Amino acid sequence: MTLNQTNWTEATQAVEAAQSILIVTHISPDGDAIGSALGLYNMLIKKCPSVTVAVDGGVPDFLEFLPHADHIRPVLTDGEWDLMISTDASDEERTGKAGEYGRAHSKTVINLDHHATNTGFGDIYVVNPDVASAAEVVYQWWKHTGYELDRNVAQPLLTGIVTDTIGFRTSAVKPGTLLAAQELMSHGASLTQITALTLDSRPYKVVDVWKRALPSVELADGVISANITLADQENVEDRERMEYGLVGWLRQVDESMVAIVFTEDTPNQIKLSMRSKRGFDVSKVALAMGGGGHQQASGATVQGTLAEVRAKVLPLLAQAVKEGKLDIV
Ligand code: 5GP
Ligand code: MN
Repeated sequence: MTLNQTNWTEATQAVEAAQSILIVTHISPDGDAIGSALGLYNMLIKKCPSVTVAVDGGVPDFLEFLPHADHIRPVLTDGEWDLMISTDASDEERTGKAGEYGRAHSKTVINLDHHATNTGFGDIYVVNPDVASAAEVVYQWWKHTGYELDRNVAQPLLTGIVTDTIGFRTSAVKPGTLLAAQELMSHGASLTQITALTLDSRPYKVVDVWKRALPSVELADGVISANITLADQENVEDRERMEYGLVGWLRQVDESMVAIVFTEDTPNQIKLSMRSKRGFDVSKVALAMGGGGHQQASGATVQGTLAEVRAKVLPLLAQAVKEGKLDIV
């Protein structure tokens, strides 16, 4: 069953009753995780005397340009809150140690998300799987509140929308997504800056990783795959972004319907990053592997060696290709 509940009024009442709010998001944060969290933070600091925002490890370098990115706490070991808001995380585990600490020290939890695989944790749901990003859910909530929308709110929210839709290119983009973007731009968000610093930017060392990983590329049964081994990752800290770029590029290959990058976290733990063309569902495979995501962009972390995990996952993806049908209209 898909959780689809947007209890805007209840969520707004919880915010207005709170003297202290904690905002958390998912580990290995991407543009939507940080964008939705900072959009909320910059909106709520005007409403609530004490707002904290935290994610394990802090903000990735490429998102430091966002207003108040330096307020994001990388470690959370103290504090009590009336309200915790979890954004862009489809399950509790995804919020990491910050989420675990926050849940134990907050009276109420708002679950704000846009993943169809959301597990329904928390007390108040603001979950809309019909929109392209968690930032768009925050935008919709803002519309219901009538709160002030300034550039510090608009810029992170547009960043979430732009990065999760890969520049308005995924099938999740609806007319409402463009209307949201238009309104955020009219409140000072810069599409040019966001695009230049997120989608159109990568350090050379990431290309260096690709150089080492590309010989592992294989295409079979409509599935294109690549491995990024520990040795390939020498000198790279910005893992999340490195995988993202490669799997998105592989998905463009005409002969593939599904793309996957297997990245070694350790010799016995592999991160899966999956993408598909419209009409093919990788989220079921991600769920079966203990992860989650969207039909066309999913992920999971699996125990086992690279060879073991490939042997388990590739047949499932080949099956997903068989069950699907290219749907580009
Ligand atoms: P990425 O390939 O960029 O890491 O992730 C793509 C999508 O899958 C994102 O929407 C992300 O939230 C989801 N995802 C990635 N890894 C995991 C995971 O380990 N667990 C869950 N629940 N979702 C994941
Ligand atoms: Mn998202």
